[in-house]
Amino acid sequence: MTRSPSSTVYLVGAGIASLSAAALLIRDAGVDGRRIHVLEETALPGGALDGKGDAQSGYVTRGGRMLTEETYVCLWDVLHAIPSLDRPGVSVKDDCWAFNAEHVPHARARLIDREHRILDARHLGFDIQDRVELMRLLATSEKALGTKRIEEVFSGHFFQTNFWTMWRTTFAFQNWHSAIELKRYMLRFLQEFPRIHTLGGVRRTRYNQYDTIVRPMRRWLERQGVSFVHETKVIDAQFASNAGGHRVTRLDALRDGQALAYAIADDDVVLFTVGSMTADATQGGDGWPAPLVRDKRDGAWTLWENMARKLPGLGRPNTFCGNVDETKWLSFTLTMRSPLLLERIEAFSGNEPGTGGLMTFKDSSWLMSIVVPHAPHFAGQPDGVHTLWGYGLFVDQPGDYV
Ligand SMILES: Cc1cc2nc3c(=O)[nH]c(=O)nc-3n(C[C@H](O)[C@H](O)[C@H](O)COP(=O)(O)OP(=O)(O)OC[C@H]3O[C@@H](n4cnc5c(N)ncnc54)[C@H](O)[C@@H]3O)c2cc1C
Repeated sequence: MTRSPSSTVYLVGAGIASLSAAALLIRDAGVDGRRIHVLEETALPGGALDGKGDAQSGYVTRGGRMLTEETYVCLWDVLHAIPSLDRPGVSVKDDCWAFNAEHVPHARARLIDREHRILDARHLGFDIQDRVELMRLLATSEKALGTKRIEEVFSGHFFQTNFWTMWRTTFAFQNWHSAIELKRYMLRFLQEFPRIHTLGGVRRTRYNQYDTIVRPMRRWLERQGVSFVHETKVIDAQFASNAGGHRVTRLDALRDGQALAYAIADDDVVLFTVGSMTADATQGGDGWPAPLVRDKRDGAWTLWENMARKLPGLGRPNTFCGNVDETKWLSFTLTMRSPLLLERIEAFSGNEPGTGGLMTFKDSSWLMSIVVPHAPHFAGQPDGVHTLWGYGLFVDQPGDYV
């Protein structure tokens, strides 16, 4: 499709999808960055790739990305063109690869049982029935799998295997999640099977992903003239339809509670990020839990719902956002001003910070996993301050591991 040089590009959302789209439009499609506008409802770019805080009030990341070389080909390709912030002449990609050459991942304590024993997780624990069911899942078409849940395609033994405990905690799968989704992950990450017990294939960024990926991307994009329009929630899109398909004619948005509209010309382009894993994420603290939001206050799902209501073929958002209790989750970041806990974890696990991957306490009622990153994990994190990230899959259970 050819576009006139005057066409304007609107990217809804400032997560990695939009940042990458902007970078590729400029780098590979020759679009003038000054014609690209990123509309984002929050005050910061990055979406799920967050990282904030300080040593006094505490650091927070909602998640930590486990990347690999093989699967993240597109990400590395984009990051190859983005200069790192603090290493002159080095791209973000090269900086990440240099970091991983220095800090080789090899988890020595992937699974820990109720007796505080490190399990020999090399043994995935499959029996013949598990193998057959695995093969059947991979050989069954998505059409035939339909809405089946994982627990409908495997029998009881599979869920007791070391493999399932490692796979589900690596990728945050619940037994009731979609069998299609599991199949896609298995095909996408097939190369991880032999090294899932050491997470040896995982590639980390030097700092959290906000500092390592998002900040340099934003700086590079702004230097190309891209504008970031924050605190602007796109709430709806208007379409014109003809035999050739549908075209966006207007974006409706809210800023500071005021309605505004973006008129979209015939040769303009709009790319939407619809839905978000971190929509309606809230933060708790040492003395209070993060409140659970059920009424979709962020724009990610309602925009999709509004568009899908108008046009057939735009998917079924309700499949992904319609069951809060089965899709909510919780993670936590510790900020420590003493090395004591990390020294004990290092002595127990045999892993220096940044080399260990996930440690899963397989019998904890949260099914809790923790990761100790290399320090500093946040730009400006002082010496003597340490962080640790963790999450639980069963967030409604009272915690029982201290
Ligand atoms: C805890 C956690 C751990 C993860 N671990 C991994 C991992 O190990 N490996 C991995 O590959 N992936 C992981 N992921 C997933 C990965 O982070 C996401 O898939 C990816 O960041 C999504 O990027 P995105 O740009 O598609 O969407 P998002 O990051 O969700 O960004 C969407 C952006 O759009 C904005 N937005 C949405 N709707 C609107 C609107 N209507 N108007 C204006 N703005 C809007 C949102 O505010 C947000 O900033 C993890 C995610 C989480 C939360």
